[in-house]
Amino acid sequence: MFFSPVRAKTLLFFSASAAAFLFFNSPLCKAQDLASPKNVIIMIADGSGFNHFQAASLYQHGKPDQLTCQQFPVKMAMSTFPHESRGGHYDPQLAWEDFSYVLTSLSTDSAASATAMSTGEKTENGAIGVGIDGAHLKNLMERAEDVGKATGIVTSVSFSHSTPAGFSIHNASRNNYEKIAQEMLLNSRLDVIMGCGHPFFHNDGSRKYSSQNYTYVGGEALWKDLLDPSQKVGNDADGDGVNDPWILIESLLDFRSMAQGETPKRLLGIPRVNTTLQQGRKGDSHAAPYVVAMNQNIPTLAEMAAAALNILSKDPQGFVLMIEGGAADWASHQHQSGRMVEEELDFHAAVDIVHQWIEQNSSWNETLLIITADHETGYLTGPGSGAKNEKPLWNELITNGAGTIPEMQWNTSEHSNSLVPFFAKGAGCQLYLQNIKGKDPVRGPYIDNTDIPKVIFWERHAPILP
Ligand SMILES: [Zn+2]
Repeated sequence: MFFSPVRAKTLLFFSASAAAFLFFNSPLCKAQDLASPKNVIIMIADGSGFNHFQAASLYQHGKPDQLTCQQFPVKMAMSTFPHESRGGHYDPQLAWEDFSYVLTSLSTDSAASATAMSTGEKTENGAIGVGIDGAHLKNLMERAEDVGKATGIVTSVSFSHSTPAGFSIHNASRNNYEKIAQEMLLNSRLDVIMGCGHPFFHNDGSRKYSSQNYTYVGGEALWKDLLDPSQKVGNDADGDGVNDPWILIESLLDFRSMAQGETPKRLLGIPRVNTTLQQGRKGDSHAAPYVVAMNQNIPTLAEMAAAALNILSKDPQGFVLMIEGGAADWASHQHQSGRMVEEELDFHAAVDIVHQWIEQNSSWNETLLIITADHETGYLTGPGSGAKNEKPLWNELITNGAGTIPEMQWNTSEHSNSLVPFFAKGAGCQLYLQNIKGKDPVRGPYIDNTDIPKVIFWERHAPILP
């Protein structure tokens, strides 16, 4: 363990606080957790701020703070701004003095945020796993692979999208989907990739007979090879000099069957839908949750997560898994309150499955679970919020009881620079309390998105240290 001067200061700051005393003595977050975690699971709700999570709690339970992650021993906030040299910054005082601060200050995109969360380095918007000088930055998956751990990514949007890409490969632009997919499938050492992008299906799960788009799966030639097992598409994932071909699954039954028992060494799961599991389906996209019939015959994020855990946990040296709920962001860009709530509930149902898996198949002494977001989208508040009467006002979301969408107000169709929630539980989770970057007047102590891997690389995983 290394204590930099900055960290020593934050440690002192926290030692003096009663809150920290409680945290450090929580049965789920003890000093003995300082041992290296065997497994790390990071779950990212794309485009989700504090109020997105509260909307899910209010819809599901009729009251706030009822989600599983909201009971975790480490509950904090996290800043997400891009590289300082590009104008990235978060000022906690200004954020609550000026209603428009989080809209006028530079917001991150998913690419820069994923890069920060997986490499510990800020970069500019659009960049995937590369710094502002274009240099490749080593990511969490690569570091885990270097010490023999299994790695995987699971997402409810296309697997070559920014968040999974930022955790596993390097590219100057998030928009190079085809190249990104090729990098993930042919050059990365990932063991599990699950996400959308199926060229033969529409977003409502119906078959697409013409103008197929192969961009998200790495191009037509690669996709045709993936469909043909005799092509043995893949590379050497575990460094034994032998090719480890991808096994492709598509059907709901196949996804479900992977959650138990025997599994292939390397799995590519592409549900039969184009860009996302549910958010892009037909029907009134502004209807209340579940009013428009859900896509059938595709897995939920929870089912995909269960399958990934069953595969990755077969590695005796442990695993690192990133699970993304990717479409809450897309719903929020379009102010689709109902579909945003559906996406949040899908994400938090996956959190519940992962939490249960850890308790039944692992333990909080060997597994670290992080629940967070890459940025906030929509500047979601309660109704009546705004810069009225010269004094800014932030109202809470108003419950309409469980099963009914709460009252809410969207304040932009873009991302905001708001702090996002950060929850951690299990092995080493309290180390995040030693990396506090500041105290927000409303959200309280916050870390930065670059602290996620820094804690895992530098404080926790001595063997991963370069
Ligand atoms: Zn977005």
